[in-house]
Amino acid sequence: MSLNRLFRLISIALLMLFLALAISLVWIEWSIYQNGANSVPALRNFRLGLVAMEKLSAERGPANAYMGSRPGERDALYQQLKAARVTSDTAMDQLRDALEKDPTLRQSPMFDRLRTVQQALGPARAAVDRIGLQPEDQRTTLYVVSAVNGMVDMIPVMVRLTAELASIVDQSDPDLRDGLAGVRAAASLREYAGQIGSRFTAPLIIHRKLNSDEVIEIGRLYGRIELLRSLVSAQLASYSKRPEFARAIDEMDKQYFDNGFQFLDYLLQVGLKSGDYGITPAELAARYVPQMKSILDLRDLLLDDMMVRAEQRNVQARNFLASVIGLTIIACLFFQLLMYMIRKRVVRPLVSATDLVVGLVDGKLDQEIPKGKYDDEIGGMMRALRVLKERILERNSLAKEREALITQLQTSSNTDFLTGLLNRRAFFSYGEQQMAVAQRYERDLSVVLFDIDYFKRINDSYGHLSGDAILRGVAQTASQLLRKVDVLARYGGEEFIVLLPESDLAQAQAVAEKLRAALAHKDFEIDGGQHIRISASFGVAALVDGRGLEQLIKLADTALYVAKEQGRNRVATSA
Ligand code: GH3
Ligand code: MG
Ligand code: MG
Repeated sequence: MSLNRLFRLISIALLMLFLALAISLVWIEWSIYQNGANSVPALRNFRLGLVAMEKLSAERGPANAYMGSRPGERDALYQQLKAARVTSDTAMDQLRDALEKDPTLRQSPMFDRLRTVQQALGPARAAVDRIGLQPEDQRTTLYVVSAVNGMVDMIPVMVRLTAELASIVDQSDPDLRDGLAGVRAAASLREYAGQIGSRFTAPLIIHRKLNSDEVIEIGRLYGRIELLRSLVSAQLASYSKRPEFARAIDEMDKQYFDNGFQFLDYLLQVGLKSGDYGITPAELAARYVPQMKSILDLRDLLLDDMMVRAEQRNVQARNFLASVIGLTIIACLFFQLLMYMIRKRVVRPLVSATDLVVGLVDGKLDQEIPKGKYDDEIGGMMRALRVLKERILERNSLAKEREALITQLQTSSNTDFLTGLLNRRAFFSYGEQQMAVAQRYERDLSVVLFDIDYFKRINDSYGHLSGDAILRGVAQTASQLLRKVDVLARYGGEEFIVLLPESDLAQAQAVAEKLRAALAHKDFEIDGGQHIRISASFGVAALVDGRGLEQLIKLADTALYVAKEQGRNRVATSA
């Protein structure tokens, strides 16, 4: 697998892994945020449930007052009762609206419970109205107690309902659990406190002592209230350091547990002894109900605090989610950038450097080696590659030069420096080859040896340089007249030799004659622009069976000697 491909696969795998981690992190934060976002509406519903329950309890005050009304105050008390009923109906409707809005709540048992309470409210209120309209002396314990119970009996259903609403809050934000328990304890406290008051309604109306059932019930309620008081203070242990909570707890202790209890104790004493209470239910409500307000204040303070905390946590969760998403995106981008950088600055240059090295090995020396863009290791490698290429080029040109030198050297060792003709050594090496061919195939072969006449005199008269010029001129004239296959060489000082393959004695003699005539008729220009004439004498010999090259040359030399002897400027052949 190529490095490029491997790198791409690794990057994709890493990116996938990274994205999976990022998505799960975002998912966790998202669900925390979603749950948290639920906590505020859940708290709101819980509060509506508590308020509805409270208003329903609070309706008992004016109801009890109305049941104990005297002729003169009946209408006024009825107006108060009506107002209280409107208040509790409004609270119930608000709760119902809230439950109706949320589809899951609409289908929950909570909605049925609320309907049950609202349906039960009609007959319970009718019972209260009936007693209120009766003349005082016709009101009986049985009916009064039944009417009071009718109003109290709905409370357990409301308690269930608020407990269910509380558990929704608890699920959406478990951190609110302490506050939630405190609020529920405070709400129950208020409820039982109210119920104690209600237990005195019948005895107050009938002007009698408490019966044993009532005494037992009041005792039970006292017990519960004490229990709830300790529960509230336990739940609020962490809050009590905050001044507003300390004040509220203090207020509750003073208002309800000191003053309220004192009043209840008084009523209990009278109820046990004489039944001569000296107050109407309306007066009881007017005195006792405000003392319970401190409990509700504490409840509301807790609820407000929970709401603020829930909202804060919500904002925190949202901000945290936003920063997790932001950081994830940044990290993703950074990761991509990193991969891009590694690819651009390491992998790609490495791959192309590898290609370049392979190219250099294959002899592709014309390929361009790019300059490294950065002054890093890759840049260094590119520089090294360029140096390597230059070295290879240098070495190649050196090798070429050496070859040329060798060729030149070879040529110069075979060539006569002055005339450019083959020298005597080269003549023998060519001549021996030709001789071997001629002997093997029994072909004709002749040799013409010629020597310039009176050359010493030319040197003496015109100088050595002029002599050299004549030698060059003779070499040029002779080579122009010969065939390609003929081999002309400088044999010695002013002596030349020609090897004529495929030529017999007569043909060679003709060639010699042609050369002689040409040289004799040529004007040689020497130094100083003078023209002089020369002549040469020729000895010709042809190959005869069994003779070697040296013998052939010797024969030609003998013939040349004859030509000289006979007066020069002539051709002589060997016999
Ligand atoms: P002949 O007709 O008998 O051949 O007389 P010649 O003067 O040509 O004969 P000789 O052998 O006495 O003289 C040859 C001269 O050629 C002697 C030498 O100085 C001259 N010579 C030999 N080589 C060169 C050369 O390379 N350059 C020049 N300028 N002269 C040369
Ligand atoms: Mg000579
Ligand atoms: Mg000579």
